[in-house]
Amino acid sequence: MRMNRRDFMFKAPLAGAGLAIAAKGISGITDAPRAVLKLSSQEGVIPGQNLREKARRMDKWGFDGLEVWGGGLPKRIEEVKDAIKGTRLRISAVCAGYKGVLISDDKSVREQAVKSIKEILPAAGDLEATGLIMVPAFNGQTKLDHVEGRKILVDLLPELGEAARKAGTRVLLEPLNRGEAWFLRQLADAAAICRDVNHPAVCMMGDFYHMGIEETSDLGAFISGGKYVHHVHLASRKRNLPGQDKRSFRGGFQGLKWIGYQDYCSFECGVIGAREVEIPKSLAFLRKEWEKAVL
Ligand code: MG
Repeated sequence: MRMNRRDFMFKAPLAGAGLAIAAKGISGITDAPRAVLKLSSQEGVIPGQNLREKARRMDKWGFDGLEVWGGGLPKRIEEVKDAIKGTRLRISAVCAGYKGVLISDDKSVREQAVKSIKEILPAAGDLEATGLIMVPAFNGQTKLDHVEGRKILVDLLPELGEAARKAGTRVLLEPLNRGEAWFLRQLADAAAICRDVNHPAVCMMGDFYHMGIEETSDLGAFISGGKYVHHVHLASRKRNLPGQDKRSFRGGFQGLKWIGYQDYCSFECGVIGAREVEIPKSLAFLRKEWEKAVL
């Protein structure tokens, strides 16, 4: 079609802009690395006499990661390294285990949290964990309102982020459901705190159990979390193994695919029935859900 001058002035630039938007839209997906499903579990979920035995069993079942408790971790580094030696497992994340409360109304309790977290971070870095999971305050742990609490948290996180960066790991905010922690309930809110802090080692995570209570869309929640999401907890609606009730993981997995998620999805749940039978079944269920989570 021949284009006159008026067409050229008005239509061509618009056509160009349209192409640019389309290209950006496509690259927005394809530029993200291909997401991976790396399955992990907290140590307490797995049967075994000791950590080594648990790790061996996890390796046999096809797990990729092991999540360890942060309390006392500096003294357990060798035990943990030894447990995963010769297996495919890596340490996925370190779950809390610090003393104090990050947004306590009592300054000395906040300082206790900072000190305690800084003691665990080098161990988390040594074990190459993606991060140390933190809950700013459970219900009843602070008298501060949400405005005061958020300000305190945003002021305090850069120091912890810097300690995490130096240790080679991250701090990860975990939103919980309102029954446990009104202060931080949704992934988008945790991500907004990370954005405001703007430190590369201050990130967050999502937990399917809490998300089932608080989020209107698992897909939307993970997209809102975006680049800040560096760990995921897996549990069914009633907080048992995925697949043991009607909780779907497809929307959440679509979200993880959308953001090109590279970290671990880790069991934090109870088990109905024999663990040796039910855990491998749950792994198979999750791999199917991942396959069916088509964007
Ligand atoms: Mg959790």
